[in-house]
Amino acid sequence: MATLGNPNNTVEILQKYHFNFQKKYGQNFLIDTHVLDRIIESADITKDDCVLEIGPGIGTMTQYLAENAREVVAVEIDKALIPILEDTLADYDNVTIINQDILKVDIMQIAQEKNGGNPIKVVANLPYYITTPIIMGLFESHVPLQSITVMVQKEVADRMQVGPGTKDYGALSLAVQYYAKPEIVANVPANCFMPRPNVDSAVIRLNRYEVPPVTVKNEQLMFALIRASFNQRRKTLVNGLNNAAGLPYGKETVIKALQALDINPQIRGEALTLEQFAALANELEG
Ligand code: SAM
Repeated sequence: MATLGNPNNTVEILQKYHFNFQKKYGQNFLIDTHVLDRIIESADITKDDCVLEIGPGIGTMTQYLAENAREVVAVEIDKALIPILEDTLADYDNVTIINQDILKVDIMQIAQEKNGGNPIKVVANLPYYITTPIIMGLFESHVPLQSITVMVQKEVADRMQVGPGTKDYGALSLAVQYYAKPEIVANVPANCFMPRPNVDSAVIRLNRYEVPPVTVKNEQLMFALIRASFNQRRKTLVNGLNNAAGLPYGKETVIKALQALDINPQIRGEALTLEQFAALANELEG
């Protein structure tokens, strides 16, 4: 089987199987070997690694992963792609294809069965319509993870690595930075994909922290505070939290907590750092 990382071989396989792109699944296949090499290199894949690939498509990146890793598990939702993957990956005995929705897969079980419960690496050219739930699901479920190296929309990659004071700063930035150290490793123009998407993309590597950079007594409370603050970005933090469903803190309580932390009670939630959100959660938890 020819390697797929170039437009001619991709078109050939798509024609052979009369494949129709499904927009609803965010199908934009990579057709640039330099980008593929860069992803494998930044993900630092070695023969010790068990890799989970989300959305293998026709198997382009899967071939690269299979060459470099010990074991690859590829989860693809579109059943029309399964016979294609069986063909393009026929030469590899270290790849398992699972035809399922990644949001419904028990990743913990995969790590257990394929890697003895040791940390796995996630590598993917993600379907953009579910980037955030996939990444948050991986972190929040506490699956043993070493790193996540993914292609995402450029704007989303930027959001993951910024701090307070920029318009891109939000709940996703804080969540990602609590669990991992983000680093954009490549910018990828739209013409590296077939079909061409409407946005530019970037590859971001998220290196999972063994211990989060801040200490928080109640993680769930901290994330509830973060979500409530960014749901009402234009309001002061005090008003934002006061109006938030599911949070029991009145204005007085929040003002007192902010004063105890030497934070101006007029501050907006979007100006708080991760350290300050953690300190506020600890203060309110008592
Ligand atoms: N990895 C391929 C490549 O780089 O050429 C394809 C990437 S394409 C951007 C995203 C892939 O994710 C598609 O193959 C799509 O069918 C698949 N996909 C979409 N939603 C999914 C889901 N919920 N679970 C698993 N795969 C999904």
